Amino acid sequence: MLERASEPSPIGSGLLLQPPGLAVLRRMGLLDRMLERGARVTGLDGRTRSGRSVLALDYAKWEPGCFGLGVHRGALWHLLQETALADGVAIEGGVEVKDAEAFRDCDLGLVTSGSRTALRKALGFDDRTHFYEWGALWANVPMPAGWRGDTLAQRFDGTRRMMGMMPIGRDAAGNGPYLTMFWSEKLDRIEALKARGWTAWRDDVRGHWPEAHAATECLGNFDALSIGAYADVRVTPWSRGHIGLAGDAAHGTSPQLGQGATLALMDAEALCAALEAEPDVPRALATYAKSRRNHVAYYQWASRMLTPFFQSEGRVLGLFRDGFMGYAAEWPYVGWETLATLTGHKTGILGGRLRP
Ligand SMILES: Cc1cc2nc3c(=O)[nH]c(=O)nc-3n(C[C@H](O)[C@H](O)[C@H](O)COP(=O)(O)OP(=O)(O)OC[C@H]3O[C@@H](n4cnc5c(N)ncnc54)[C@H](O)[C@@H]3O)c2cc1C
Repeated sequence: MLERASEPSPIGSGLLLQPPGLAVLRRMGLLDRMLERGARVTGLDGRTRSGRSVLALDYAKWEPGCFGLGVHRGALWHLLQETALADGVAIEGGVEVKDAEAFRDCDLGLVTSGSRTALRKALGFDDRTHFYEWGALWANVPMPAGWRGDTLAQRFDGTRRMMGMMPIGRDAAGNGPYLTMFWSEKLDRIEALKARGWTAWRDDVRGHWPEAHAATECLGNFDALSIGAYADVRVTPWSRGHIGLAGDAAHGTSPQLGQGATLALMDAEALCAALEAEPDVPRALATYAKSRRNHVAYYQWASRMLTPFFQSEGRVLGLFRDGFMGYAAEWPYVGWETLATLTGHKTGILGGRLRP
């Protein structure tokens, strides 16, 4: 495994793993160790500043006992790294793969370098990726006493202001529990936001969500915040000869639906299954892509559709979202499809589910 970072290390915000992603970890024999670290998220609670419910999810309505798992990226990364090393995988840091040369002597080359990777183009893939103008500032903060540790909470104000607080449990060293804080921002406004100063931003947070303001008190300046930028990856097919794409490199989306890591885990499992059934690598890569097509295509479509309702300049979209989405989720068919979407089980727009 070749990794660009010189010291392969766990960096990054928290991730919400959905039930199908947790099922992959269970089949790998890793779920129990992940559960020790992560935070069981049993519900989503997205509201306007005035308290109107926009996005509500109770995982137990999908299936009793069902939950998502908020995890520190570092905790997931360490678990997977340890497992890979124990399996004899050599992990080489400080190697930036730039072109096909790195894959010359491989039986199978897998590109998993994330949504913004330049490798797709360098390797001749038909890459029509769209980069979003909006992203997020994020940081991990200690979970304050009394905070609901089982709910991913969000507060919306139109489509230009959104803040989220996601329980993610403990990091790989056992410190925590933490929350990941997200603050939505248009990427080209971040410099202006910094220029206004830390106190002005803290005032914005206080006005937007007073409880979250208190929870993020520990952040001292903008250096404590990282910038997350998203891409809507559009590339077909996912393989060229013996080189394939997986994870965000194949199908990165905006993270509104919290599915990216789950999709990546499912890719890995599907590729293993394809290689077990088909010794010819190009054919196995085609089988793998076909087996993932419907599930991935649905979440790409849903992310494209939903993102402007949460991050855009569209005032009308915000009004529509606030007036309609909360009610619509109460209607039987729409409510069930929303639940299936948010829990990661949908494989088609009108219907379609992952096989159990
Ligand atoms: C702010 C934010 C919040 C998110 N929240 C969630 C969430 O709650 N739930 C969820 O499921 N998903 C979430 N996502 C999406 C999630 O992070 C991705 O879907 C997931 O990390 C994809 O994993 P990956 O392994 O495909 O790619 P990545 O995690 O992007 O990993 C790519 C790796 O490749 C390395 N690399 C890049 N280029 C090269 C190169 N040329 N040579 C060698 N190495 C290279 C990078 O250093 C990195 O280690 C979020 C994303 C963001 C930005």
